[in-house]
Amino acid sequence: MSFHVPVEPRNLPLLVRERLCDQAYRANVLRATGFSLVKRARVVTDFHDWENMRDAAHRIKELVMDHLPAYLREFESKARGAGAEVLYAGDAAEARRLVVDICTSHEARLVVKSKSMVTEEIHLGPELAAAGIETLETDLGEYIVQLAGEIPSHITAPALHKSRQDIGRLFQQRLGVEYTEDPEKLTAIARRVLREKFLWADVGISGVNFALADTGAICIVENEGNARLSISLPKVHIAVMGMEKLLPDTASLSLFLKMLARSATGQRMTSYTSLIHGPRRDQEQDGPEKLYIVILDNGRSRMLKNPDLREALYCIRCGACLNTCPVYQLIGGHGYGSVYSGPIGAVITPALEGWAEAPYHPFASSLCGACSDICPVKIDLHHLLLRQRGNAVRKGRTPGLERFLVHGWRLIMQSPALYRLAGKIMRFLAPLASDKAGNMVVPRWSVQRVFPSPPRRTFKDLWRGREEQ
Ligand code: SF4
Repeated sequence: MSFHVPVEPRNLPLLVRERLCDQAYRANVLRATGFSLVKRARVVTDFHDWENMRDAAHRIKELVMDHLPAYLREFESKARGAGAEVLYAGDAAEARRLVVDICTSHEARLVVKSKSMVTEEIHLGPELAAAGIETLETDLGEYIVQLAGEIPSHITAPALHKSRQDIGRLFQQRLGVEYTEDPEKLTAIARRVLREKFLWADVGISGVNFALADTGAICIVENEGNARLSISLPKVHIAVMGMEKLLPDTASLSLFLKMLARSATGQRMTSYTSLIHGPRRDQEQDGPEKLYIVILDNGRSRMLKNPDLREALYCIRCGACLNTCPVYQLIGGHGYGSVYSGPIGAVITPALEGWAEAPYHPFASSLCGACSDICPVKIDLHHLLLRQRGNAVRKGRTPGLERFLVHGWRLIMQSPALYRLAGKIMRFLAPLASDKAGNMVVPRWSVQRVFPSPPRRTFKDLWRGREEQ
């Protein structure tokens, strides 16, 4: 797989075209998303009240967002009471600086990272590298995309766009091992490399799946055990979390764990669920000596105040909306050029990266509503996308020609005389701009769509003729 266009949000139209032409990439994405959907469908039926659970999860997140400052204060005070150091970062640059400063203050040379979308969001890897700190992704999928020099293509399955043959060739080239496409052997190769690094790492960096306001604990779920090793073997653990990750109390966690595992990977429970309540205590044998929790805003406060975006903060990053989205299934995560892809990425990327960087994202949707139907926290995703489209138009982010045509269309639709005149002009010009099949040829538009020529006689003409008979 190669990209001729830089994988950046502003290049979405070109990236989409590239991904559509890459048959192998599309086949891998379609196979993986289809497999995830089948697995999810099997385990969701465990509960006859799944819909009620979705409602409950929605209400809990709504409650948290309604009182976010209070829950943040409660979490901070409990986490500090348990011995953690809690830091706030207003934006990505501040978060990067905080993490690098912590690493350098502990003279870190090697950092092990467990999978975390928020550290991708703040582009932490290049900053650590610039500070001379080696960083190793320890989740297998993340390790694969790191070796390939790519960004993750899915929230929960970063290397879902790669076949096992791709991974076999990648390991052969980058690790100098014999080619194999046997998943067990590939996993064993990665494990050999990673295990060694865990033992030497100075700092472990993780994301946070849930933060519990009533105890100050953070919860991390995973399937490979790499997160547990990353946060317990090094002397220092840095957990980076978006401020929306809060839950009010430990009691709500059980609902969210059931929903996250089923929606993300079609499992009843992820293999490892770690609840971390401060750093290692004197009488304990395992765990880091220092725990830092970096709470990231990076546009979330603005989203909280914006009724068009507030609900997007309920997201628990399960990835189910990506799997079910017909657009994502065609173009995969790299087609969006952004860290967050799929329907949720199309909603939040303009908010996180700015409209100048991501003007087209809300349009990367068919608005079919499959994302809203599958979302475990019942985010009304397709209506959020529609509202973001309205925002893009109001901010003048749509192409000039499109704005001109829509403006003209509005004028015509408001005036019966103009409507009749436009119809006459169209019927006169249509034969001059039609192909042999009688369809109009509209540059770019009709390459992939049929634009039927207007009929020679209007409905009104036909009706009048009928009356005259
Ligand atoms: S928007 Fe909903 S379905 Fe999509 S990743 Fe977030 S929680 Fe999952």
